[in-house]
Amino acid sequence: MTLAELLPSIGCSTEPVLEEGLWPDGTHLSGSDLVIGGVPATRLAAQFGTPCQVLDEATVRNRAKAFVAALPEAEVVFAGKSLPCPEVYRWMASVGLSLDVSSAGELALARAAGFPAGRIVMHGNVKTGEDLKAALEYGVSRIVADSFDEIAQLGALARHGQEVMIRVTPGVDAHTHAAVSTGVEDQKFGFSLASGAALEAVLRVVEQPSLRLAGLHCHIGSQVRHVASYEETVRRMVGLIASCGVRIEQLDLGGGFCAPYLPGESSFDLFGFAQRVRGTLSYECALHRVPVPRILIEPGRSIVANAGVTLYRVCAVKRGVRTFVAVDGGMSDNPRPALYGAKYAVRLVGRGGKLRPVTVVGRHCEAGDVLAENVLLPADVHAGDLLAVPVTGAYHHALASNYNQVGRPPVVAVRDGLARPIVRRETEEDLLRRYV
Ligand SMILES: *Cc1c(COP(=O)(O)O)cnc(C)c1O
Repeated sequence: MTLAELLPSIGCSTEPVLEEGLWPDGTHLSGSDLVIGGVPATRLAAQFGTPCQVLDEATVRNRAKAFVAALPEAEVVFAGKSLPCPEVYRWMASVGLSLDVSSAGELALARAAGFPAGRIVMHGNVKTGEDLKAALEYGVSRIVADSFDEIAQLGALARHGQEVMIRVTPGVDAHTHAAVSTGVEDQKFGFSLASGAALEAVLRVVEQPSLRLAGLHCHIGSQVRHVASYEETVRRMVGLIASCGVRIEQLDLGGGFCAPYLPGESSFDLFGFAQRVRGTLSYECALHRVPVPRILIEPGRSIVANAGVTLYRVCAVKRGVRTFVAVDGGMSDNPRPALYGAKYAVRLVGRGGKLRPVTVVGRHCEAGDVLAENVLLPADVHAGDLLAVPVTGAYHHALASNYNQVGRPPVVAVRDGLARPIVRRETEEDLLRRYV
């Protein structure tokens, strides 16, 4: 680093260093520009326009590989809904991950990626007849049954030994947002363990000549911080395995491993998870005298969230009781603040200055279209400035909409100083195509 680069940050709080743990691996400052995957953010904005969702390929690959390294005996299944994109699915296939899909549409992306059917799992609390037919036609290796209706329908549609898993609601509270807490009793997902429905579902699958029971599946929620929640899940699921009376070969523990969104938040303790889940599993299986099943895990967010950065252009600044900084995107590319009260860090690219709290808002016709409240930006923030929001790799492209007929942003992959779109920007022509 040259002295000129060092000087602005010495004894000056206006040029904060990069927040630890939030940005893609290797992201750094060069002067006041932000370099992601070797490409300056100002160049990405100039070349691809804004808003722009930048995705660092190396970070995605490294996190996927970290799961495989931590649990080499397990099958690591990427939760395809967190970042639906054929190119990303190809990266997952190339580092040895399997893929889970929850609709015929996600399966179509997997097919486009050439993802091997033998490594695809389909889940979801509703699978329409079309979803099930598409899964059977492609030869998806396992289908996770979520209701008695579905077991009957699948039994009728399937031929010769389609492998099925049972989605179980283990009654574990993962202490996360209610909208993504999927393991507690009294909710739409799965068969309740406590009521006996899960056991009944096992028997129903075994009775169907066209189906073969491959294992049990659960998913306790998203943004789960505590490894203890997974240990408790293992205890309950092995208890269920012991009462099944048939051999259970696979136990899918789902995903939900947390990612840090704000400075100071920690990453998921993957190493601790691997050790404690492995230990609990072998202890409980010995206790109940059942063979140890093969573990599956389904990370989504924890692989892709921190690999993503969204770039926005400031369009207007209004100074009043609060200062509102309005950008060229909003809830159409990030509905998470409105859905879950999600919070984000924001940084201005290209310039420092004395920091002031502001509220960053989107362009959409709702007062709730807020991207980040009370974030620190240079006091003279003005139209034309470039903002970067980290941790936008998971459930951003996936949840994007066309509200106000705004085209969805591109996803631009960066790697070793090269940038290429892996999802192109949506145009007015794309939007008009559906109208008759
Ligand atoms: C959403 C989902 C996942 C992935 O959750 P993350 O929080 O992204 O890790 C895994 N399994 C199932 C069944 C899911 O519904």
